Amino acid sequence: MTTAWAERPQSSRAVAVEVLRHGPLSRVELARRLALSQGTLTRLTRPLLDEGLLVEAPDAARAGAESPEEPRLGRPAQPLAIAADAHHFVGVKLTGSSAHAVLTDLGADVLAGAVAPLPSTEPAAVVDAVAALVGELVGGGRRPTALGVSVGGHAADHRRVTSAPFLHWSDVSLAELLEDRTGLPTTVENDVLALTEAEHWFGAARGCTRFALVTIGAGVGYGHVVHDRLVSSPDAGFGLVGHWPLEVPSSPCPRGHRGCAASVLTIPAITEAASAAVGRPLAFDEVVDLALAGDPGAGRVVADAARGTGRLLAAVANLTMPEKIVLTGDGVRLALELAPQVRAGLDADRDPRAAPVALDVQDFDFAEWARGAAVVALQRFVRGRPAPR
Ligand SMILES: [Zn+2]
Repeated sequence: MTTAWAERPQSSRAVAVEVLRHGPLSRVELARRLALSQGTLTRLTRPLLDEGLLVEAPDAARAGAESPEEPRLGRPAQPLAIAADAHHFVGVKLTGSSAHAVLTDLGADVLAGAVAPLPSTEPAAVVDAVAALVGELVGGGRRPTALGVSVGGHAADHRRVTSAPFLHWSDVSLAELLEDRTGLPTTVENDVLALTEAEHWFGAARGCTRFALVTIGAGVGYGHVVHDRLVSSPDAGFGLVGHWPLEVPSSPCPRGHRGCAASVLTIPAITEAASAAVGRPLAFDEVVDLALAGDPGAGRVVADAARGTGRLLAAVANLTMPEKIVLTGDGVRLALELAPQVRAGLDADRDPRAAPVALDVQDFDFAEWARGAAVVALQRFVRGRPAPR
């Protein structure tokens, strides 16, 4: 099988990407979506079918968009689907203390997962850990097409980590180091942007052309898709949304702001404020448990955070007008437990004539973040921009 997707012309790749993201699709629906004639579509799909990148889906998966005139075109009427087994990807999400990895197929379905502690945050030790995880997931079987790695921090050119506070890194050529070590084309991306891409193409926001993703945990993260594309900027990954003012009382953030999102909503901010209020050191889950049990000190901190979360979501909705907002992160339990307070904070900053904000709160799962890293590697492959070697 010669599935050299990246060597295909752009027009042919566009067909495959459309099927990847929205398939199975009938030929009629696919031609309509891409504004192609049936003849052109047939010319573009034939080599993809011959190479095994696309397959004809079984009848059970027939798309509802089937058109009555299709059978007289004299071609198979089966919808087209991606050959998910044609390529595999490894995605790794790095934290300050661990590496979470998944192996996915071309449809971004997770086939296997693995976790390893990081004995040190030295780049060489992290490269060792990632290489070991790749070996574990691949297990001597098929070779993955590419590797994606995501970090909480700033990535440049999908190659270098320019700053990652949790790893204490500045300017680490991570893709180059991993390519030398694993032989796999490697893409490096900010973790929130990678997660946004995964939710957009294959997850909670599949089918949305306009949505926002907000993460709350060690920091406040933000990803934004408009016109069906991720908004990217050299400034993405600096946690800028964390400085959004919420007008909630707080200790100052590292930039000196009182009442900004990072100083009210993050796990360190919540545990610090609640520990001070209760008079002993508390972990995040203890704070939430105490608040739910009626402790007034923890309750006030948690209530402020829930209202502040709602206000941040309202700001996102008011400014970007998304079809939906996906909220997740390792601190998302607070928003799940106090959903009515979050909604009240959100509604307070909306106009009652505006549509209610579609809020999709997703439970936190490191494997989903690792899947995001796999998806950015997958995207660079299918868009024909594999990481340079
Ligand atoms: Zn701030």
